[in-house]
Amino acid sequence: MRLKEFLSRILTFGLYDPKWRCNVCGKEIFGEGYFCKECYDNLPFNDKTFCQHCGRETDEATDYCLTCKGFMVSVDAARSVFTYKKPINSLIKKAKYGNGKYLLSAFAETLSYLYFKNSFNADVVCFVPMTEKRKRKRGYNQSEELATRLSEIIKVPVTDCLVKSRETERQAKLGKADRKENLKGSFKVSDKKSVNGKTVLLVDDVTTTGATAETLAETLKKAGAVKVYLLTVASVPAKKEIKT
Ligand SMILES: [Zn+2]
Ligand SMILES: [Zn+2]
Repeated sequence: MRLKEFLSRILTFGLYDPKWRCNVCGKEIFGEGYFCKECYDNLPFNDKTFCQHCGRETDEATDYCLTCKGFMVSVDAARSVFTYKKPINSLIKKAKYGNGKYLLSAFAETLSYLYFKNSFNADVVCFVPMTEKRKRKRGYNQSEELATRLSEIIKVPVTDCLVKSRETERQAKLGKADRKENLKGSFKVSDKKSVNGKTVLLVDDVTTTGATAETLAETLKKAGAVKVYLLTVASVPAKKEIKT
């Protein structure tokens, strides 16, 4: 086979770059990017009214929403790029389980924007750990991938000092309080020096109840962390305030 023919085969079939098609509608796109303009404009950006503490979308701007008040206490502040709804929910699933690992780079870029916008000024970046067994099964830890890619952009070192010491029951079926109870004592800081006296930035894909982040922040603070900020790609909206 001649070289020219060989290259053409690779360029046409072999190294298909998913960036050439919109990740939502599949339409061909030209130039840089992951979405066509229409789909990009319709992404559920969480930049209108949100809780100043946990970063969830709210009906009105508020300092503390019903979801985080009295619950998110060890996390000093959290922000998320998107609200967890269509099509972001399926894109995150694709990045976690499917063939969409490349999307984690795009997400990390959006996280860096929020990092600078909120002046989080972290000394170190942490991620939500998985047990070794789980990581082997899944192939990679999406939270670690996000943290590593973000760390490269914001030039803040990432540390793998958080350890998941035991497998926990699947969180999905549990309520907020039960989730926290389920996670109790399941995380450890392996190297306290890496967080002691420092501002820590915790990175994850989704904030649902916030129980995981809160438990990790508590663990980090016990190990001497001064502040813990949380950045996630998406968060579920806050509970509705009941107007009287
Ligand atoms: Zn599109
Ligand atoms: Zn809140």
